[in-house]
Order: sequence, then C-alpha cells, then structure tokens
Amino acid sequence: MAQNSAIEWTNATWNPLAGCTCVSEGCRNCYAMALAARLEAMGQEKYTGLTCKNVTGKAMWTGRIHFDASCLEKPLEWKAPQLIFVNSMSDLFHENATDDMVRAIWYVMRRAHWHTFQVLTKRPERMLDMITKLELPLLPNLWLGVSVENKAVVKRIDVLRKTPAALRFISFEPLIGAVGKVNLAGISWAIVGGESGPGARPMKEEWVDEIHAACTRYKTLFFFKQWGGVQKKKAGRLYKDQEWNDMPSPDYQKSV
Ligand code: SF4
Repeated sequence: MAQNSAIEWTNATWNPLAGCTCVSEGCRNCYAMALAARLEAMGQEKYTGLTCKNVTGKAMWTGRIHFDASCLEKPLEWKAPQLIFVNSMSDLFHENATDDMVRAIWYVMRRAHWHTFQVLTKRPERMLDMITKLELPLLPNLWLGVSVENKAVVKRIDVLRKTPAALRFISFEPLIGAVGKVNLAGISWAIVGGESGPGARPMKEEWVDEIHAACTRYKTLFFFKQWGGVQKKKAGRLYKDQEWNDMPSPDYQKSV
C-alpha cells in the first residue's frame, strides 16, 4: 500500500487483499506473483503461503487469498483526495475472495467518498454476479475496469458493459496479441501497454493502431503507458511521436 504509486495512471495503491491465480495468458509474467514471493522471502507475513515454486523454480500463486484487516480502513486516514488503484497484488473478484471480503472493501470505498477508486479485474463475470447477488450499490467514486491482453479475452468487455458502474475502463496491458475491431461503446478510458521485464513478449504497433482507432471511433480516452520489453525505459512511451496521457478527471463521475 503506497501513496505516490509508480503506476503511471494512478496516485496510490491499496491492497486489502493479496494473492491470486493465473487465469489467462496475460497472467504468465504477473509482476505481483513474483513480488509476493520476494516479499514472503523478506519475512512479510501478509504474503506467506501465497506462492510456491513450480518445477522450474518459478514462483506461482497458490490461490490462497489473504485479507489484510490492518489496512482495510487506510483510505479513510488519507485526507487529501487520491486516485487509488485497489488490489495491485490480487484480483478483488478472485473465486476465493469471500462475500464478506468484497462487501467490506466496497463499503470502505463508499465511506471514503472523497477518493476515486480504480478496480481492475480479469474476472468480470464474478464481478457482475457479486454486485448483483450482494446488492452492492453503484458508487460514484468507483471506476470498474477489465484487463484485455488479446482477442481470446475480448468478451470481458461485453460483461463489463453490462455491469453498473460510474465509469468503465479497459487495460490493454500486457498487450500480447491483436484484439481486432473492438467495440468500446460505453467505455470511457483505455490504457495500452506492452509487457516489461524478463521474458517480456513484444507488442506490435499495428495492435496499438487498432485500439487507437477504436478509441477515436467511440470517443474513448486513450492512454499509452509504454512499449515495454526487457528495457522498458529505453523503449519509452512515445506512440506516433508523442505521449498519450488522456484519462478521466476524478470529478468526471461525480455527476452520476
Ligand atoms: S489476475 Fe492479475 S494479479 Fe491475478 S495472476 Fe493475473 S495478472 Fe496477476
């Protein structure tokens, strides 16, 4: 949990949950999985038992979810309004996140109404089910998003479109394949980024072009995060010779 997050499109991260399971190709080099293993090795109890080594020695999620009650109410202590990314070390709608966990986190976001929260999931079906089943209220200060890394998971966008939200967004990161002519109706914001770090899979410019064209067509704000690669700083974040930093204003949703 940190204010001044290094993630380009948020201000702070808040991790009331930790732990996950890989669900699609975009998870293969999950940075959170590797980081959780390092944090466990450093003795951080929150990350104990969340990963184990596979036959090649790579840390893999075990599927255990840790609910960190000690940080649940942290956003209420942050007096200045922040843009807060929820659960950078997990997925709020993981199958082992219980009703009580999701409900507790949801109602802290409601109480901390001066902040804007960003929830990003690869499990939109469970998100829609839980919002419906638990009768979770629509929060004007909550943006809901899905990750889409290639064409195989584009259907996540259709589920997101059906989900009640003040604002919907897509993270096309790590973009590891073409998504085709994607429908962005009802989607306010798109983030595009290539994979970075060891074993990073390259991103082709034509895949970015398709998404950029869709953003223009549907008036979706376009944020180009990075080309990625093993040396992401060197590859930079210029697309068509410029930076693309469009994102919704935190006040955007307050009219909802
Ligand atoms: S859903 Fe997110 S946190 Fe979970 S394994 Fe995939 S990339 Fe990692």
